[in-house]
Amino acid sequence: MSFPSARGAPTHETASFGFKAVPTVARQGLVNEVFSTVADRYDLMNDLMSGGLHRAWKDDVVAWLAPPKSARPFNLVDVAGGTGDIVRRFLDSGGSGCSAVLCDISPAMVDAGRRRLAGPQFARRLAFTIANAEVLPFPDTSFDAYTIAFGIRNVTHIDRALCEAYRVLKRGGRFLCLEFSACEVPLLDRLYDFHAFEVIPRLAALTGSAEPYRYLVESIRQFPRQEPFAALIRAAGFARVRYRNLTGGIAAVHSGWKI
Ligand code: SAM
Repeated sequence: MSFPSARGAPTHETASFGFKAVPTVARQGLVNEVFSTVADRYDLMNDLMSGGLHRAWKDDVVAWLAPPKSARPFNLVDVAGGTGDIVRRFLDSGGSGCSAVLCDISPAMVDAGRRRLAGPQFARRLAFTIANAEVLPFPDTSFDAYTIAFGIRNVTHIDRALCEAYRVLKRGGRFLCLEFSACEVPLLDRLYDFHAFEVIPRLAALTGSAEPYRYLVESIRQFPRQEPFAALIRAAGFARVRYRNLTGGIAAVHSGWKI
């Protein structure tokens, strides 16, 4: 089988894997290889790649979610939850009624998350599930909130993942997505490009992760900008869709409600 364009727009048979076009059916397997390769040094590389900014961005997501401080039951599913940064912030800042499910397709990332979140403060309020965001193993209307941080650009069929988010949320439930986006501040955008395409590949090479990080950086470029992504969220059924740019749009948090 031939795939005519190296960087071309995906056809019905191909999907973008960074700047490459790969068979759609093979894409998720390639993504999974990336994360099983980097799982043990993912947290360190996250800090290096974002200069620690991802921590503030994740704080913003949880602040915007505003978990209840009371004993009222409030259940979050964090999809593509990786090593658990979002669920940890959520459980730390919410009240005793808050509980969470960390769901991720990569057993290696979930194992890293389990090790990090092994403390007794999480034991009764946190569960782990290995699953694809496109086919979630939860009944309809299970959750009060759904978060996905730096996960959705790795999903092959974003529309399917958004429909699943909508399905598993209760009426009145909240969807929040943190993702790299399009920097809208002149000069900062150039600095960011330099960081992404010059600095990160060198850092990644030093840690022996050049290939996985090539994909991670390239996939940022393939992901829709703020407004087109907001339109996809509306198309999945969400209402009151808004976004906030973080650090000039290097990242953005999109929010929507199931009403
Ligand atoms: N949310 C974590 C964070 O912000 O640090 C991890 C983000 S990491 C860049 C992306 C995660 O998405 C990985 O853990 C990967 O295994 C997961 N992932 C990729 N494709 C997925 C899919 N189709 N369904 C669920 N998780 C997926």
